[in-house]
Amino acid sequence: MLLVAEPILGPEEKAALTDVIDSGWITMGERVQLFERAFADIHRTEDSVAVSSCTAGLHLIMLALGLGEGDEVLVPGLTFVATANCVLYVGATPVFVDIESDHVPLMSLEDAEAKCTSRTKAVVLVHYAGYLPDREKWREFAERRGLMLIEDAAHATGLPEAGTYGVAAAFSFYGNKNMTTAEGGAVVTGDDALRARIRQLRGHGLTSGTFQRVSNPTLTYDVTMLGYNYRMDELRAALGLVQLRHLDVWNARRKGLTALYRKMLGEYAPDVVVPFDDERSSAYHIMPVVLPDKTNRQDVILGLRQDGIQTTIHYPPVHHLAIYKERYPSVRLPKTEDYTRRELTLPLHPRLEEAHVERIVQSLADSVRR
Ligand SMILES: *Cc1c(COP(=O)(O)O)cnc(C)c1O
Repeated sequence: MLLVAEPILGPEEKAALTDVIDSGWITMGERVQLFERAFADIHRTEDSVAVSSCTAGLHLIMLALGLGEGDEVLVPGLTFVATANCVLYVGATPVFVDIESDHVPLMSLEDAEAKCTSRTKAVVLVHYAGYLPDREKWREFAERRGLMLIEDAAHATGLPEAGTYGVAAAFSFYGNKNMTTAEGGAVVTGDDALRARIRQLRGHGLTSGTFQRVSNPTLTYDVTMLGYNYRMDELRAALGLVQLRHLDVWNARRKGLTALYRKMLGEYAPDVVVPFDDERSSAYHIMPVVLPDKTNRQDVILGLRQDGIQTTIHYPPVHHLAIYKERYPSVRLPKTEDYTRRELTLPLHPRLEEAHVERIVQSLADSVRR
């Protein structure tokens, strides 16, 4: 079976994990610090905050920015549910925004403008499939409207521009992302005070960590804010340090495979829309395609499956999920709804071979023709 995503783990990761076990220090030690600095390097900042997941990172960003009851936060309807959940965690209200088009399935600036009210405090950009939105336009919008710009950069790990749009960005190292620590995430921000606050919130709101108290035995701690346990451990940081070294090569491989997909789909399945045909930076996280209007997606999924090809859907729109439909029954996002009805995600990961791409495109073309 050709899988949609596959983590790359080998002898280097095994050795890194063994080193941690042999060291006897298994959480929040030197490796977490090294990983935080190495990850920050990509985004040309001094430091980052390693966390237990991207979701934890987004939650901490929203807490640290003081978002809460009565505040509205613009989020795309086309995203993973975690983006909107974090808004609810802090007691704020997610306001769903439509996509630009099936060619550019990123948050529509025009619709974002239309959804702004006097209560709108922040906007969360999602770099869907790894593709970056227009930085200058969104910065101008946020500044003009007085909004905090947050990035859910779960799909854009490895892109230096990701993490430079607004106040802070959260990245994911979940098993199906561009690099993995099994579970894990990181927060990047250029604001030192905000970073310090997020770091404190990550560890129960304590004013010092265990690691600091070992090197300074007279150090005690106080708790000055209501924090959480969103820490990363040494095993995950060790995995992350190994994975980081390969990330550029892996992302370049993803780029090459995406180019081949585009070329072959144009040739053999011209009715299928391949989003992001314009020039823009990407981490090429997933390979979404949009099937022709009349095509039965379920039949295509089964057709590909019979040929040993896994596909998935990114995403069921968040406003259609039961808990959101119950809370916000009147939300309509026509372009997102049309896109998510026809979207199909094809396999894309660095271990995929050119011959696999050819096989997948042929199988898709056959299924669509039937
Ligand atoms: C994967 C993902 C998340 C959640 O990441 P975790 O690290 O699993 O918490 C959030 N947003 C988007 C867009 C994602 O793809």
